[in-house]
Amino acid sequence: MRATGGGAHEKVKNADVVVVGAGPAGAVAATVLARAGARVRLIDRAAFPRDKLCGDTLNPGALALLRRLGLSASIEERGLPVHGMRVTGEHGVVIEGRYPGDLCGRALVRRDVDWALLAGAMAAGAAFEPSVAVRRAIVDERAGGPVIRGVVAGAERSERDLHAPVTIAADGRHSTLAFALGLARHPRWPRRWAVGAYFENVGDNAAGLSTFGEMHVRRGRYIGVAPVPGPLTNVCLVKPSAPGDPSLHDPAAALRQELARDPMLRDRFAHARLVHPPVVIGPLAVDACGTGIDGLLLAGDASGFIDPMTGDGMRFAIRGGELAAVAALEALEHGWAGVHDRLAARRQREFGAKWRFNRALRALVASPLAVAAAALGARVAPGVLQAVINNAGDCDVSATCRA
Ligand SMILES: Cc1cc2nc3c(=O)[nH]c(=O)nc-3n(C[C@H](O)[C@H](O)[C@H](O)COP(=O)(O)OP(=O)(O)OC[C@H]3O[C@@H](n4cnc5c(N)ncnc54)[C@H](O)[C@@H]3O)c2cc1C
Repeated sequence: MRATGGGAHEKVKNADVVVVGAGPAGAVAATVLARAGARVRLIDRAAFPRDKLCGDTLNPGALALLRRLGLSASIEERGLPVHGMRVTGEHGVVIEGRYPGDLCGRALVRRDVDWALLAGAMAAGAAFEPSVAVRRAIVDERAGGPVIRGVVAGAERSERDLHAPVTIAADGRHSTLAFALGLARHPRWPRRWAVGAYFENVGDNAAGLSTFGEMHVRRGRYIGVAPVPGPLTNVCLVKPSAPGDPSLHDPAAALRQELARDPMLRDRFAHARLVHPPVVIGPLAVDACGTGIDGLLLAGDASGFIDPMTGDGMRFAIRGGELAAVAALEALEHGWAGVHDRLAARRQREFGAKWRFNRALRALVASPLAVAAAALGARVAPGVLQAVINNAGDCDVSATCRA
């Protein structure tokens, strides 16, 4: 295969692969494909750098993957180190766990993380087109079953067909392509929404552990707190909700109220100032369904999203983007026979145990006694807590880094 000299705004003719979405999954998939010599058209409805609601922490496993791909340098240079997790529950319960050895994650706003990854994709030769929204897939029914031949993109009156033998849908949690093709749906339960914002002038936590990620688990909801360079503090509230929920009509007020009534957070946020209006998204959970359609591969949140509590979405997106790129190369070389099955098996092997762990943690959040029980467990068997912290942070870096 031939590599194109890619770059921002450059259009590629006769693309081998159209990658929809230039977040971590799309940027990594585009990088791997372009490095292998594929002609890659990477499109996003946004102009970059762009903001994205997130807890802004890359866990040690995600960072190790980026290091292996040669994409971590500016993130490691600019991000604040994250050495472990501090989880609090009601009635003053606190559990702390440090990542093992010299492992650490990084906290950096997504605007900078995603821009760094996109720059890597363009440097590898992917042709990036910003501000191009995908409307739908080009579905060819002539082959006996549906086959995706590319996508229709652009504004209503200026739509254009972007043909390619492989399309990768990396267009995030509410993927236009996956939802329209019946490959993703929001489950009936849980229905949680996130409110994310940046504050300045936030006080230190009681332990002064400003290099630990924080998760404050309360009855049915939780609040993530992470200092990021700036100096700003990222705050994400995740709570049960529904469309039109009156408690989220004024998200800034909802966030302030939540912080002000919390005995462990109110003093730290007493003099804090909200820097931008909060962003609200939901419902959060997305289930993947269906067996795949030839011509199309899913990566990142478009292929399913469990819950942000474990802070590992970017690890799934980075590795998922890489696995989708490998599958795309197989399809280009040998056709589609077996491609979806092999990709599903690889994803199951690499992500299956972590998906189960994340679902179990998601269920625990619904229980008011969960953190207290975990704190008791941590006192009785500290090794168990350490294993949970290691697992949440994807600290088995040797497994995570197998190419
Ligand atoms: C509240 C919250 C906190 C989180 N905190 C963390 C954390 O601390 N650490 C962590 O690792 N993960 C975290 N996550 C998860 C993480 O944000 C995601 O898993 C990650 O962003 C997935 O990357 P992606 O590339 O699949 O999708 P995205 O990052 O969402 O990128 C998708 C891209 O597709 C583009 N797009 C969408 N639709 C179209 C279209 N129709 N046409 C063209 N382009 C389109 C978008 O503009 C976007 O750039 C959090 C998630 C939430 C909700």
